[in-house]
Amino acid sequence: MAKYIFVTGGVTSSLGKGIVAASLAKLLQSRGFKVTIQKFDPYINVDPGTLNPYEHGECYVTEDGAETDLDLGHYERFLNIHTSQDNNVTTGRIYQHVINKEREGAFLGKTVQVVPHITDEIKRRMLQLGKDGRFDIIITEIGGTVGDIESTPFVESVRQIQWELPDEDVTVVHLTLIPYLKAAKELKTKPTQHSVRLMSESGVHPDVIVCRTEEPLNTDLKRKIALFCNVKPDAVIEAMDASTIYEVPLLMLNEKLDEIVMKKLGISIYPEPNLDAWKGFLNKLKYPKAKVTIGLIGKYIELQDAYKSILESFIHAGAVNETKVQVVNVHSELITPENVAEKLGTLDGLLVAPGFGNRGIDGKITAVQYARENGLPFFGICLGMQMSVIEFARNVLNLPQAHSIEMDANTPNPVINMMEEQKKITKMGGTMRLGAYPCEIQEGTLAHKIYGTTHITERHRHRYELNSDYLEQLQQHGMVASGTNPATGLVEIVEIPSHPFFIGVQYHPELKSTVEAPAPLFTAFVAAAKRYHEKNSSFKNPLLQSELI
Ligand code: GLN
Repeated sequence: MAKYIFVTGGVTSSLGKGIVAASLAKLLQSRGFKVTIQKFDPYINVDPGTLNPYEHGECYVTEDGAETDLDLGHYERFLNIHTSQDNNVTTGRIYQHVINKEREGAFLGKTVQVVPHITDEIKRRMLQLGKDGRFDIIITEIGGTVGDIESTPFVESVRQIQWELPDEDVTVVHLTLIPYLKAAKELKTKPTQHSVRLMSESGVHPDVIVCRTEEPLNTDLKRKIALFCNVKPDAVIEAMDASTIYEVPLLMLNEKLDEIVMKKLGISIYPEPNLDAWKGFLNKLKYPKAKVTIGLIGKYIELQDAYKSILESFIHAGAVNETKVQVVNVHSELITPENVAEKLGTLDGLLVAPGFGNRGIDGKITAVQYARENGLPFFGICLGMQMSVIEFARNVLNLPQAHSIEMDANTPNPVINMMEEQKKITKMGGTMRLGAYPCEIQEGTLAHKIYGTTHITERHRHRYELNSDYLEQLQQHGMVASGTNPATGLVEIVEIPSHPFFIGVQYHPELKSTVEAPAPLFTAFVAAAKRYHEKNSSFKNPLLQSELI
């Protein structure tokens, strides 16, 4: 029988529920338990696939092709496991299921209501991952903040589960904020008291309170929170701001979050946590021996969450290389042929980001040209790879109007074309080429050297592809298709062998990078940037050198 941990949030959003949930999961996993995490999001979109990144940040894609909340990325990066369609549920998906059943006549003439029909479906999904013996512990993060109108059915479902299951099978962890008032020089517990009271009014009482705080909580304050919120003093956990999210599991270990949770769950025998690999990674991350500057060219750069997995992949790859990777965001719309050298001149590597639509496209193409012509390490992901093909077609094949059908439906040289199966699709949600597909890598190529194998699978999210009619021309002029899908021949990887490091991939390697298994492409790209930096930095940027000494 699996045990269930629910993580709720109060006071404000953006407290890092996902990181706390992932950290707790990591600690339990490090003690030998089989753990998974799922997220329940209160919004009505069926999944975040149709959401603009400005709304909720990046859309994370799982192996099985689910378009999910970015917190699933944290779960995978921390736990080194695969999540799936079942790990992210939205209000929209719940209602869609219940309404479809109603249309099928499954409710036999009954009035369909939030309680019990919607809550029954929520509960079914909350408990589902614990049914087949694959996991000992299921952590469920409830999105949003307690008290939000749309969270109510989720909180009610947690109440019912608490009531239905034995006490020792369910625990609730509530994350709140303890604000520090500078003028009064005091930490304030009142918002936490209100938040716990609000949740208790819905019938759900937390067993553990995790307090986000900028200042340490002393024993008196912890006792005060415990007394007013009706939990034991050792169940008040301090969560100080950390310098990196990857330190949070260790902070939570110090605070004994996992032990207090296990006690509530009736788990009394457990091994010491094995966090050697994790600590080794943290050590490399905190004490780098070198530094590189990578330009991230995108159109959503104002919002860090839009490229979350890419930024985290750089952290993993940086640790492997014992190198601090400083990512400089460059807005694609601001790059012109006139200013490109000035904007990109101090970089050690260029990553052109994934994306959709026309905005900022010219800047991306100009940036690729600069990297190609100046031997600057280049890494293109999805749209970034497509832009590298367009740039090559325009400037090397001499097809100045070459474009992607996505941006210019009438281009005489559609070097990037819509995939055949996409042409009949009329609905937007969940209809891209999504999830893991195999890719065969040609021996002797850069990709082969990087992966060390000819057979890989990577995750996808796109509608367009390299038009194979142009493949021969591209290859003749020095752009090689080094990876293809074995079933369809779709080009997955392009590279330019005459360049020190130029690679573009149709898939998203950032979605599979974890602390324990960093994405090989990112690791190799950072290593290439390091080589470039060593070669060029002495005359290019003396300041950066002295900074390291
Ligand atoms: N817009 C491009 C396509 O659909 C690239 C997608 C992406 O970068 N994820 O093919």
